[in-house]
This record gives sequence, structure tokens and C-alpha cells, in this order.
Amino acid sequence: MTGNVTRKPNGKVAIVTGAAQGIGAAIATRLAHDGFDVVIADLKSADAKATAVAKTCEAAGARAAVIPVDVRSEEDVGALVAATVEQLGRVDVMVANAGIGPPVDFLETTTRTMNDLWEINIRGVMYCYQAAARQMIKQGDGGRLIAASSIAGLTGFPQLGMYSASKFAVRGLNQCAAAELGKYGITCNTYNPGVVQTDMWTGLDKFYSGRAGAPDGSALAAQAAANPMRRNTDAAEVANSVSFLAGPNSAYVSGASLCISGGQQMH
Ligand code: NAD
Repeated sequence: MTGNVTRKPNGKVAIVTGAAQGIGAAIATRLAHDGFDVVIADLKSADAKATAVAKTCEAAGARAAVIPVDVRSEEDVGALVAATVEQLGRVDVMVANAGIGPPVDFLETTTRTMNDLWEINIRGVMYCYQAAARQMIKQGDGGRLIAASSIAGLTGFPQLGMYSASKFAVRGLNQCAAAELGKYGITCNTYNPGVVQTDMWTGLDKFYSGRAGAPDGSALAAQAAANPMRRNTDAAEVANSVSFLAGPNSAYVSGASLCISGGQQMH
């Protein structure tokens, strides 16, 4: 995936939330190869997996730190940014990647599910953007705020009502941040993956395949067959696009939402 990227340290530090596995782990690893020092930020319960990701980043030549965070907590996110500055010196990129996506019927969606999705997928992004932006403004030389939306943040999908709403909201929040923070040299962008084969989609596949009375894997296969490119994607391919949003070639890109979906969602 990133083996051919020759690392040149860039003196910059990136925080990636939800980085113990899946898309976040791939982003952290990719940014380490790009030249960033990285913080693997995830729930305390994911510490072992986060440490393994940090080792991979260190093997690429980066400095890496594992800093536990629950993005639902403003205090935790503030402490994450403070600990990053303490351990690695600064914050140049915040990738607010942590998210959940439990499938549930519209009419069965409980207040608990609504709150979970809101707290992690939206409030978590807001806390990450705020805390990182404050630090970037203090540093005085700009920065990159990047958040996980989804193709479900552009079109509603069945059984993903509150998830979709949360991912639409991520784009709204991101656009407002771009409008307000541009004057500080801070760019704000979202990445909108299509069907990425991580634990999240393993769960969705089980749910949709089960509903159809079909074997596991059927829903994923159906998604691939319906995609204009006739395939799904993996976390590394999403990380390639985030690498662009974090890197020097996107310096004047802000308020954008980049779909990585093989054309499943055109935007
Ligand atoms: P995943 O379930 O594999 O990983 C999510 C990570 O987030 C886990 O490591 C988990 O511990 C962490 N996390 C969950 N709650 C947290 C919290 N409160 N605080 C800190 N960390 C927390 O998911 P993924 O597929 O890698 O998805 C990553 C992001 O990409 C999510 O925001 C998701 O909505 C989005 N996304 C995924 C897909 C896909 O097809 N997999 C598609 C579109 C968007």
C-alpha cells in the first residue's frame, strides 16, 4: 500500500482519531509514510491495537504516540491535543475519523441510538475541530482539519437514517468551519468513502445479507456489482485521498467533500 512512498520528514504532526483499526489505522500509517509524526487516538479499550499501529508508523520512520480518547468528551479531546503538543510539539493536521454506523430501521431507531450517533459522529468532530483549531491558531501557521463523512452524507440509505443525518451534518459543520477558519490558513475538508471493507462493513454486510436470507458476504458482493467500477475499496485507498487533503498539494482546497466511491456517489 504505502511501501513505495519514500518518507521525507516534514516536521508536522497529525492526530488521527479512531486510528486503532480500519480507515483510521490506514490514514495514520499513510501519513507516517508521508513524513508526519502521528498520534494514534482511540478508545482506551483499543490500546493494544493502537500500539500495533504506532509500531507500524515508527517502522516507517515516524515518531508515533498512542493517546487514548473518547471523542464524546470535550475534556478528553482537549487533553488529547494538549498531550500531543507535550509529546510531539505541535498539531498540524486533525483527522476526525472516529465514527460508528449501526444499521437500524427508521421506525425502530431509539433515542439511545440517536444520541450515540450524535455524540460520536458529530459532537466528536466538533470537539476535535475546535481543540485542534485553537492550537493551530496559537501556532500561527495554519493547519488542516479533516473529517470522515460518507457517501451516506450525500444520499440517504435504508437502515442508516441517523448515521446518514450525522454524516450530512459533518459536511455542514465542515463547511462552516472552512468559512470561519480560512483566515487563519486552516483548511477544512471531508472525505466521503463508499463501501470500504473494514469491521464497520463486516457488520453491515451481516445485517443486510441476513435480512435477505443470503450468506455473509452477499451484501458486499452486491455493492461491488452495482458500483460503476465493479468493486468496493479498502482502507488504504481512502487513506491515499486523505494524504492529499493533509499534504501540500491541497493547500487551496477548503470546504470540500471528496468522494472515494468509484463513482457510486458523484459529487
Ligand atoms: P471501524 O469501526 O473499523 O473503526 C472505527 C474506530 O473508531 C474504532 O477503532 C473505534 O474504537 C473508534 N471509535 C469508536 N467510537 C469512538 C469514540 N467514542 N472515541 C474514539 N474512538 C472511537 O470503522 P471504519 O470503517 O474504519 O470507519 C472510520 C470512519 O469512516 C467512520 O467515521 C465511518 O463512519 C467512516 N466511513 C466508513 C465507511 C466504510 O465503508 N467502512 C464508509 C463511509 C464512511
